[in-house]
Amino acid sequence: MSAGRTEEWLQKFREVILQYNEHRRSDPFMDWFRDKDKAGFFASDFERVLAILIDSRFDQRTTAENALQNTRDVVGCGALKNCSLTPRELPLLIPKQSKNAGEWTELFCEALQRLHELAERIVAKKSWAVDDLFKLILTECRVPYLADKTSRLAVRWLHELVNYLEIDMRNYKIPVDSLVYRVASRLGVIDPYTDKYYGNGSPADLKIQGFVQRLFPEKPWVMDEPLWVTGRRRVRGGHCFPTNPDCHGCIFDGLCPKNFTDIAPESVGMEKTLGSGVYMRPVRKVETGASEKQLAFAKFVEDLKRKRITGERYREMIAQWQREHKEEEWQ
Ligand code: SF4
Repeated sequence: MSAGRTEEWLQKFREVILQYNEHRRSDPFMDWFRDKDKAGFFASDFERVLAILIDSRFDQRTTAENALQNTRDVVGCGALKNCSLTPRELPLLIPKQSKNAGEWTELFCEALQRLHELAERIVAKKSWAVDDLFKLILTECRVPYLADKTSRLAVRWLHELVNYLEIDMRNYKIPVDSLVYRVASRLGVIDPYTDKYYGNGSPADLKIQGFVQRLFPEKPWVMDEPLWVTGRRRVRGGHCFPTNPDCHGCIFDGLCPKNFTDIAPESVGMEKTLGSGVYMRPVRKVETGASEKQLAFAKFVEDLKRKRITGERYREMIAQWQREHKEEEWQ
């Protein structure tokens, strides 16, 4: 493609994304949050931040409506003021895939103290670079089940809903999962045979983030939703299926070269799927050479020691941690 044609194509792409964002269905949590905020429900920025963290943590492997119902329930029971709620003080929460209602309720109670701590750390500083904020959420003050995707949702909401916070979003990276990888392949942004994805900084990741930066250097997050929504299943409004996409009605129809429609690009270019076919990102290494998971585990053990938890309770909590962190939410 000539430079002029490429620029024309990019411009069309920008317009499609902007139109999508202009007309997208409003998020139920954002509507709820704004209504509550207008009515003076939140006593402080700490409570605003905490409500966002709670809902984004619930918003995984379920619908936004279910996540919001859980948020309303726990907030109604005092979770914004009390970090020591017990399962007996809560109704059973709507479970996510892989957890039953009882387990999910218990896990929320166990995470609540950490959610409070994280909210405190966030409001302690007014201005954030987005990278620092992710570092805080994903490594320094980790909350079980608030992982890569859910934390990105949290950061977007913090940016959009909490006026007190000034978050410089220019370095925002969109999370690459199998849906985004597939759609990016079909759109010609990457080639699954040469651009492999195995985590942050892998060839496919660099190309996708570079493409996003080229289109929207000031607000890269606007690219996130249009890509993954397009890659969803038909029943969830998607078009770009693993094979034989249904291009009719897709927002990218008209500018998409429709590459690799007879293969599932993610099965060619992404790290192998595990277990149930859910893509799991490889655990990232950090500067010390230990993985994030190892560091978090060491910190968890330190916390137990600090709290003088020993014996049977210690063993139970270690086993619980290991069960939780076997799952994809860590990745
Ligand atoms: S136009 Fe077709 S191939 Fe391209 S992204 Fe949409 S559904 Fe996928």
